[in-house]
Amino acid sequence: MAEEVVDVVIVGSGPAGLTAAIYASRANLNPVLYEGFQSGGMPGGQLMTTGKVENFPGFPEGIDGQMLMTNMREQAVRLGTRMVMEDVEEVKVGAWPFRIITTSEECCEARSVIIATGATANRLPLDSEQRLWGKGVSACAVCDGALPVFRNRPLAVIGGGDSAVEEAVHLTQFGSKIYMIHRRDELRASKIMQKRAIEHPKIEILWNKIVDEFLGDERLEMLRLRDVQTGEGSEIEVAGAFEAIGHTPNTSILKGGLETTEMGYILTQPFSTATSVPGVFAAGDVQDSKYRQAITAAGSGCMAAMEAEKWLAELP
Ligand code: NAP
Repeated sequence: MAEEVVDVVIVGSGPAGLTAAIYASRANLNPVLYEGFQSGGMPGGQLMTTGKVENFPGFPEGIDGQMLMTNMREQAVRLGTRMVMEDVEEVKVGAWPFRIITTSEECCEARSVIIATGATANRLPLDSEQRLWGKGVSACAVCDGALPVFRNRPLAVIGGGDSAVEEAVHLTQFGSKIYMIHRRDELRASKIMQKRAIEHPKIEILWNKIVDEFLGDERLEMLRLRDVQTGEGSEIEVAGAFEAIGHTPNTSILKGGLETTEMGYILTQPFSTATSVPGVFAAGDVQDSKYRQAITAAGSGCMAAMEAEKWLAELP
């Protein structure tokens, strides 16, 4: 593909990137989609490591996360998207056409680019966390919380921000009791969210605690906690633990070429996926610190493709 100039390059293969690909293909833009290889998690995005997805419309019985992404990929390919299984090292947005540099050192140039590289949920750096990931340990209560294994069982949320409170409140519909495990004696969440957590009869906040170990053979059964002030250890029984300790948007390939928010998310114009560089669009979690759902990512992917199509049509 050396030195080829294409109309649209899409970087990222989660719901945002693949939906952008489906729309761009149907608009005869012959998109090239870099689906990644190793960096930023596995191709297909965060749903590849989620269990059953019950809130994506159109699947009354729910659908396995991997299956959903496989279906979206097949749809994009059938409609004409060219998939490249390589990691993009850099998207040079400082000059037009934009240049895409990949690990194979091949390059292509693009008249428009859609960045859909997602965000990575921050995770606790513990071996036991990795071992029980997907077996009771998750980073998304909205995605996984309603699974039968968590029904009427004690559950835990780790973190003290707005996401942690939101996840804890969401989980009260399913769990028998929700522990919030926070490393300080004050929540970071907004006052209104704090009130919601503190006053909820099913939520108990364990202050000044960190998780030392996730315990269980086949699935998560207990958490070993440590009080950061006294050093005292304790154990609590939980069937699920949901980490809500922040996300990191995957923007390193831009090398600072696009404006971002204070939190590092790509800044887009209101009700649009247009970024600070004309012809470069951003969709999905890389520009969304608020909703972070597969369906909202897919929606913004659709917007990005339609905006790219319009932008290309208006080129002199
Ligand atoms: P956040 O505000 O950065 O909070 C992350 C939380 O995780 C903090 O309480 C932090 O503790 C804790 N944490 C971080 N690293 C940790 C570690 N290694 N071990 C233990 N705890 C750790 O992230 P967020 O809650 O995802 O929110 C992100 C942004 O989205 C915020 O601006 C938030 O207001 C917004 N948001 C808003 C809503 C809403 O309005 N409904 C919902 C979700 C998110 P410390 O407090 O000690 O730093």
